[in-house]
Amino acid sequence: MIPLAVPNLCGNEARYLQRCVETNFVSSAGEFVNEFERKVAAAAGTRHAVALSSGTCALHLALVAAGVKRDELVIVPAFTFIASANAISHAGAEPWLLDIDASAWTLDSTLLRQTLIADTERVNGELRHRQSGKRVAALMPVATLGNVFDYSAMQQIAAEFGLPLVVDAAAALGAEYNGSKIGALAELTCFSFNGNKTITCGGGGAVATNDDKLAALIKHISTTARVGQDYDHDMVGYNYRMTNIEAALGCAQLENLDNFLARKQQIAARYAAAFASHPLVLPLPCVQSRKNVYWFTGVYFHTDAYTTLPEVITRLNQRGIGARPFWKPLQLQKPYAHCLQSSLTQTNSIWNRVLVLPCSTSLTEQEQSSVIDTLTDILGARQ
Ligand SMILES: *Cc1c(COP(=O)(O)O)cnc(C)c1O
Repeated sequence: MIPLAVPNLCGNEARYLQRCVETNFVSSAGEFVNEFERKVAAAAGTRHAVALSSGTCALHLALVAAGVKRDELVIVPAFTFIASANAISHAGAEPWLLDIDASAWTLDSTLLRQTLIADTERVNGELRHRQSGKRVAALMPVATLGNVFDYSAMQQIAAEFGLPLVVDAAAALGAEYNGSKIGALAELTCFSFNGNKTITCGGGGAVATNDDKLAALIKHISTTARVGQDYDHDMVGYNYRMTNIEAALGCAQLENLDNFLARKQQIAARYAAAFASHPLVLPLPCVQSRKNVYWFTGVYFHTDAYTTLPEVITRLNQRGIGARPFWKPLQLQKPYAHCLQSSLTQTNSIWNRVLVLPCSTSLTEQEQSSVIDTLTDILGARQ
């Protein structure tokens, strides 16, 4: 089987893990945690990064640090992984689902501004949803597929409406916008180091920020809000720390960040070239002028051909190719079906037409040829 997206442990992973065992530093203190935080901050373009136990935890604590509270609203694209919405729920708030744009499948900034103008009002200095009276507490754009969204539009809207930008860049470490690493362009940027991401710690996450106070607060609440060395705690905290073992793996992975990003881009370019003029499918979208990180790549079906997708996936799997559909949007998920939502035309139009293809950084040229040939063959029989 050619897998969809698996870890590539080609560097110092085993050596650093061995060092954890030899030094007995396997838990939440240790040299690798500090080193990992420095390296993530450097890759994100921020002064600080706090290492945590998952991307979901990173999103949760970023929202808490941004001041999101019970029964408030956080704006999020409907087309995202369910963890974005779960983190909002964990903070006690509710997702407000908005549509994505056609160019990068990221939060539609034009629609976002129109919706905020039409559906919110300022009450005693707070932005409130007109109909429910709920406070709108944050904006959470998502770097879909590793695509960079229009940061300048998003920053303008955030400033205009007084909303903090908490970015779900779970799979987008290394992305840039207008020559700037993305972490510097938002209050808080969250990453995941789950096994299917470009850089993995086995499991893990991080929040990157340039704000000294927010970084210190997140570190504090992630470590049971402990004060000093004894059993003294000043808040309701969380146990969301990353372990030294996970960070050791992550440190070795980050030594290969540039190589991995280059490889991801090559894989994406090759699929795009192979299917650029195919009658049934199109390459997945991204705005070429931005530095995207091509986390997941593949193709999506033309509107009138999408019904064949499940069958195509079955046939690919039967022939040893780990192809998959992509995210089922939030409004179609049981816990989020009743959330406040805008019209979701673009999300509804694309979500069940996406075919994600093998894109591990360890994918060989020969394997990718085999994926392309097999898919071309299967699609040929469908025409
Ligand atoms: C992977 C991912 C997450 C969740 O990260 P975990 O580390 O699995 O908790 C959140 N949002 C997006 C967009 C992701 O791709």
